[in-house]
Amino acid sequence: MFFSRSRALVLLTCAALLAALLLPTASSMAQTRLKVVATFSILGDWVANVAADKVDLTVLVGAGSDTHTYEPGPADSAALSEADLIFEIGAEFETWLDALVEASGTKAKRIVLTEGIELLPLESHEHEHEHKHESKDADMHHGGEGDKEGEHEHGEFDPHVWHDVSLVMKMVERIRDALIEADPANAESYTLQASLYLAELGLLDGELLLAVDEIPEARRILITTHRSLAYFGARYSFKVDSALGVTTEAADPSAGEIAELIERVKASGVPAIFADNVSNPRLMEQIAREAGVKLAPPLFTDALGEKGSEGETYVKMMRYNLRTIIEALK
Ligand SMILES: [Zn+2]
Repeated sequence: MFFSRSRALVLLTCAALLAALLLPTASSMAQTRLKVVATFSILGDWVANVAADKVDLTVLVGAGSDTHTYEPGPADSAALSEADLIFEIGAEFETWLDALVEASGTKAKRIVLTEGIELLPLESHEHEHEHKHESKDADMHHGGEGDKEGEHEHGEFDPHVWHDVSLVMKMVERIRDALIEADPANAESYTLQASLYLAELGLLDGELLLAVDEIPEARRILITTHRSLAYFGARYSFKVDSALGVTTEAADPSAGEIAELIERVKASGVPAIFADNVSNPRLMEQIAREAGVKLAPPLFTDALGEKGSEGETYVKMMRYNLRTIIEALK
């Protein structure tokens, strides 16, 4: 009698212990699912490839949208306030992010992916060009907040690093390491997914390195709307001449500037120039027409294309850009 009661007690205690061990584990698993924010579509695609189904991912600036001119809304602030990790490009690409982080009160860790990457400086004449438009554009894209007097408008470095796949591979490794640090329970998955994606990127980089051979040397010139392809040119052996400088907002060059651009296109001898998916193509249409060259189909430069389009992932976008460039210049 005494023994069996004691045994029952032991069993009950064991059951209670088991429940204590199992139940909180199950509920804390659900709670600790990592909440991750990526600032724009291309970066979001890299994070999605490494994270697979292990995190809740929010991308602030979606496909087809321009990060340079983005105006964040309440949903963005809400996503930041709940986030554990924020992935950003840095180099003043996301000019609106600091103010948004502050407004959201988020405690999330910010991972700036261009840290540790050797950035290309902005060319001086383009810098001057930006500054000419400064007073006019300042209200439009800085919204006053966090805009100190005398501060540089667009930073000194070119943020468009994602057009060099070898740099993207470094950034993907940083994404992997940051996810592992924040969520070590899923380290194995992040490591595996990252290595698969890195292998895919390695192949892509190789394709791009070889492709330039299909274009005669004198025609390896990319004349683009805004300065987004400098890293592409540096890595894959193209000369890059950008018509409008680094951002997409400076949309009103004077008649004299347009005439100069037309002369530059004529003098370059290229058969085609390039518009992109986040700029108004009107100016490039005019320049192409007056210089007597083709305007190639728009490249995906600062954003992915919509789902189902040829630019729906980073890898597809880069392959599409490459084919479009070869087709236009060969
Ligand atoms: Zn850009």
